[in-house]
Amino acid sequence: MQTVPTSEELFARAQRSIPGGVNSPVRAYRAVGGTPRFITSAHGAFVVDADGNELVDLVGSWGPMILGHAHPQVLDAVRETASCGTSFGAPTEAEVALAEAIIERTPVEQVRLVNSGTEATMSVLRLARGITGRSKVVKFAGCYHGHVDALLVAAGSGVATLGDSASRAVPASPGVPDVVAADTIVVPYNDRAAVEAAFAEHGDQIACIITEAAPGNMGVVEPGVVDGEHFNAFLRRTAHAHGALFVSDEVMTGFRVTRSGQYGADGVEPDLMTFGKVMGGGFPTAAFGGSAEHMAHLSPLGGVYQAGTLSGNPVASVAGATTLALCTEEVYSHLDALSDQLQSAVSTALTAFGVPHTINRARSMFSVFLGTQGPVANYEQAQQQNPEAFAAFFHAMLDQGIYLPPSGYECWFLSAAHDQAVLDRIVDALPKAAAAAR
Ligand code: PLP
Repeated sequence: MQTVPTSEELFARAQRSIPGGVNSPVRAYRAVGGTPRFITSAHGAFVVDADGNELVDLVGSWGPMILGHAHPQVLDAVRETASCGTSFGAPTEAEVALAEAIIERTPVEQVRLVNSGTEATMSVLRLARGITGRSKVVKFAGCYHGHVDALLVAAGSGVATLGDSASRAVPASPGVPDVVAADTIVVPYNDRAAVEAAFAEHGDQIACIITEAAPGNMGVVEPGVVDGEHFNAFLRRTAHAHGALFVSDEVMTGFRVTRSGQYGADGVEPDLMTFGKVMGGGFPTAAFGGSAEHMAHLSPLGGVYQAGTLSGNPVASVAGATTLALCTEEVYSHLDALSDQLQSAVSTALTAFGVPHTINRARSMFSVFLGTQGPVANYEQAQQQNPEAFAAFFHAMLDQGIYLPPSGYECWFLSAAHDQAVLDRIVDALPKAAAAAR
């Protein structure tokens, strides 16, 4: 009989050939301890690990799998496209269709397709700097925009999980030159006075403000509303008052929180946008876009250079376009309703066991801060969470077959394939996990 290697055996083997055994740091379970589960297959709301456990998946590949895993229509489209060849390095109809699907749902007039969210934000920054002829960029502490050098400053997500406590304009990673980080101005999220002060000091040198449209990488933090003005509207207004651009990173929120992403929720029109995750349907594709006028600064029309061997890959494009087409209003209503239920069940369980907590939501983007004593509206407050309590909660859920992201700085993602029965399984596991987190 053929024996299947366990997660532990695979992890030991992986660590010999791959640094830390993983190709993205948070996957290594450093924050929660233990051995990461190696996944052998996935279907609907479930992943199956190498140890033979079928787990309810709340990671969703960190956001892309909004329809659940192995959706039959997405797989059919992928198979059919791949059978005709997988990459040509030449234009295809598939990439035009994906670009059109993005444009139809968002305020951008044109997009350029790239291969990852990081590439999208890296390129959008170059474009914003190219358009304005300015160098400085304002970003928010705790916002993660991929591992772009200039944006790896007070970044959330894995950088937060693995011990970034800085909210200063210093690189959060060795290898990022100080001179690159020196043009990044970091301000606390939801802090209007800090944004105004940054512009008062450097206004004529600032190319853009870049923000997560609704942050999900310091856990979820909702953009605040002051005197009826949404934080994103304030950012747009302030940037424009100083000749800078407002750049909204919708890699996580895009096509996830509504059909039109966070733009569908707040209606604030950015100058430039980035997209990723859901728009790739589980394949490596992403995009950045804006008005035709702004996008005309890109090569081959303009001088801002940007390129990619696999950009607009036909298989990825067709997976993305099929996914977007299947994301109907019913999908979003389902996700919202399920998230309401999950929020109240988690809160009830934690309250019953006396675990202080804050649950933040941006529609179906969901995160639970354990040990916090009040609202979490910025990175500093997110860092008040108790990592030991989260690790205990995480493992108690995993032991009961519920697969959460292995960090308190990450979002939980539901999918269209999560139904009432799946939700009931999650809810049943909560009391033991809440007890463990005490
Ligand atoms: N921007 C945001 C808001 C993200 O959440 C992420 C990834 O989590 C990125 C950019 C980077 O995307 P990728 O991991 O595809 O490079």
